[in-house]
Amino acid sequence: MYSADAIRALDHQWVMGTYRRQEPLFVRGEGAYVYDSEGNAYLDLVAGVAVCSVGHCHPKLVRRICEQAGTLMHLSNLYLTAPQAELAKKLCALSGMESVFFVNTGAEACETGLKVARKYARNCKGSDAYEIIALEGSFHGRTMGAVSATGQPQYQEPFAPLVPGFRHVPRNDSDALKQAFSERTAAVMMEPIQGESGIHPLSHEFLKTARDLCDQYGALLIFDEVQTGMGRTGEWFAWQHDHIQPDLMALAKGLGGGFPIGALLARGKAAKTLVPGDHGSTFGGNALAATAAMTVIEIIEEEGLRQNAEAIGNYFRALLCALKDQGCPIQEVRGRGLMIGVGLSQPVARETAKHALKKGLLVNPVGDHTLRIVPPLILNESQVNQAVAILSEVWKNEFN
Ligand SMILES: *Cc1c(COP(=O)(O)O)cnc(C)c1O
Repeated sequence: MYSADAIRALDHQWVMGTYRRQEPLFVRGEGAYVYDSEGNAYLDLVAGVAVCSVGHCHPKLVRRICEQAGTLMHLSNLYLTAPQAELAKKLCALSGMESVFFVNTGAEACETGLKVARKYARNCKGSDAYEIIALEGSFHGRTMGAVSATGQPQYQEPFAPLVPGFRHVPRNDSDALKQAFSERTAAVMMEPIQGESGIHPLSHEFLKTARDLCDQYGALLIFDEVQTGMGRTGEWFAWQHDHIQPDLMALAKGLGGGFPIGALLARGKAAKTLVPGDHGSTFGGNALAATAAMTVIEIIEEEGLRQNAEAIGNYFRALLCALKDQGCPIQEVRGRGLMIGVGLSQPVARETAKHALKKGLLVNPVGDHTLRIVPPLILNESQVNQAVAILSEVWKNEFN
C-alpha cells in the first residue's frame, strides 16, 4: 500500500505531465459525492467532466457491469454481440437516427463523423468537396482530425501541420457561415452548446441557418453532442430542444456513465456511406461497454433523470442569479439543464475552484472567467443548496 504522498510522487515521475492534478487523492465515489484518502467528502459538480451521468457507483450499473464481465467482455467486431445490436437500436429510437458506429471516446466519434462526411461528399459531389466548416471556440477532441476541427489555436499550434480542409467561423454568426459555404463544403460540425470553451449555447437561428445551408448545398450537418447528449440538457440530445436534426451526431462522455464508450449516429444516405473495410475499431461497442451504456439509458428513463436535469438545472440557475444580485462576482449564468456556465465578472475562476475544493466542492474552471458545472443528473435540491452555500461563502470571504 502506498501513502497518498507516495502516489503523488509516482504520478509525478511516471505519468506523462499533460494534466494539472488537483491535490486530493480520491479513493471512492457514491452518488453525487467522492471521498479522498483521508475520508473527506466532496460534492462532485464535475462528474468526470459530464461523464458520471447516473452518479458514482450506481448499484444497478455496477451490478450489470459485473454480470456482463463474468459472461462475455469482449469479442472483435468480426463477430455479432447482442448488447451492441440492442444498444444501436435503442440509440436510434431515442434520436430518430438510422445507424450507429461504436467507438471509445469523443474524439473518435468526431473523427468517424469527419470520415463519413468526406466519403459522402466525395461520392455525391466529387473529390474537391472535402471542406469542413467548424466554429471558433469549439472543442472536438485531441486526435489530429478532431484537433483540426477544434477552433482553439492553443490546442493546434504545437502539432502543426494539421489536417487540411478545415475552416472556422465565429459562433452564432450566420452571415459568416453563409460566406464560408461553397460547393466544396462537405459538412458543418458544431456543438449545440459549446462546452469546453465555457458553456456557450448556439442560437436557434444559427442552428437553423446551418441546417438550411447544408440542405441547400448537399452537405452534412454534424452535431457534436459528446458533452450535451444523453439527457444532460433535459432532452436526450440538445438539438431536440430546437427540433433541428443533424445528419451525423457524435456521442461519448455520459453515454457509458463512466465506462468508456462513444458512438457516431447517422441518418439518410450518410447512414449507409461506410462499407466493409472503410473504418473499424477493436474495442468499439464491445459487450461490456454496450451493456454499460444500455444500463445508463435504462436508469435515466427509470429515474426520470432528464426531467430532473431540467428542473434541478433551473433551480440551480435561479440560485446563482440570486447570488449575482447579492454582489458575488457573477456576470451571467449560461446553459441548459445540468450544463451550467457561470460567467464571472473578475478573472477568479481558478481561485474560486481552489477554495471550493477546500470546502468540499468540485467545480471546473474553464479559462479565467468561467466555472463549468456539469454534475451527475441525479443531483437534488439540497445538494444544490450545499453547493450554492459554499460558492457564496468563497466569493464573500475571498473576493470582496
Ligand atoms: C470531451 C469532448 C470531446 C472529446 O472527447 P474525448 O473522449 O476526450 O476524446 C469532443 N467533443 C466534445 C463536445 C467534448 O466535450
